[in-house]
Amino acid sequence: MMRHLAFLVFLLSASLVHGVGAQPAFPEEFVKSMRGNLIPGGLVIMTLQPGARILYDARTLPQIDDTVVLGFGRDAPLKQSVLFTRGEASREISFRLAPRTYQEQRINGLPPAYVSPPEKALEKIKREAAQKRRARAGASLHLGFGEAFIWPVDGRITGVYGSRRFYNGEPRRPHYGIDIATPAGTPVKAPASGRVTLASPDMYFEGGLIFVDHGLSVTSVFMHLQSLDVRVGDMVSQGDVIGTVGSTGRSTGPHLDWRMYWANQRIDPALLAPPR
Ligand SMILES: [Zn+2]
Repeated sequence: MMRHLAFLVFLLSASLVHGVGAQPAFPEEFVKSMRGNLIPGGLVIMTLQPGARILYDARTLPQIDDTVVLGFGRDAPLKQSVLFTRGEASREISFRLAPRTYQEQRINGLPPAYVSPPEKALEKIKREAAQKRRARAGASLHLGFGEAFIWPVDGRITGVYGSRRFYNGEPRRPHYGIDIATPAGTPVKAPASGRVTLASPDMYFEGGLIFVDHGLSVTSVFMHLQSLDVRVGDMVSQGDVIGTVGSTGRSTGPHLDWRMYWANQRIDPALLAPPR
């Protein structure tokens, strides 16, 4: 019995280690090196062999020289596959993401207009959704995504990526950002370099909102800002002040909500910034 138990424990820990730390066996024929997190919300940066390409979800991933980026959304299927090509050679490789669990969070005391927006706000919300989509379209050639990210502000983490959310008791979409509570007026720094693709002081849900495009479809989003220090088209370096913390839009107190996208997938900023 004990021996069986010990064996079971061994199997479990072996599979955990394999799942979390794992670099899947991407063939050296196509991939020189990779780093990142193979979990929902994770981002992976690969350096390919010269001439190699990756197809994911039936499209060829854009690349800068031999670098490609691949991201996985909150509810990404754990079973994944990519197709590598290089000259005449091609190979489909399957791999698994390590499973992840999410917290539940209840936010109360929100003005009802932010839980169920009134009819007259719907037009503005729709217009802003299109504006946000446009600002994230395409894949630019900036290299910020490869930098060692820094935290845009210091403060207490009050909300994490992926939480199931209830607003005034009503179930709503999960939380995709990381909330950092800090006084209004605190400078917000660019976590990595990039180009500002959206800077708007008054979005319905987000309030003061900035997008920074870090390249290859990796975008940072900063919400509820009190003031903006950048305009669309500005290039920012890591550490540059882009605005200040506020409590604008759907917010119950001063905090920064930092989100990230890879293409249309929402990824977890906390996986890119250093552990706290
Ligand atoms: Zn938030």
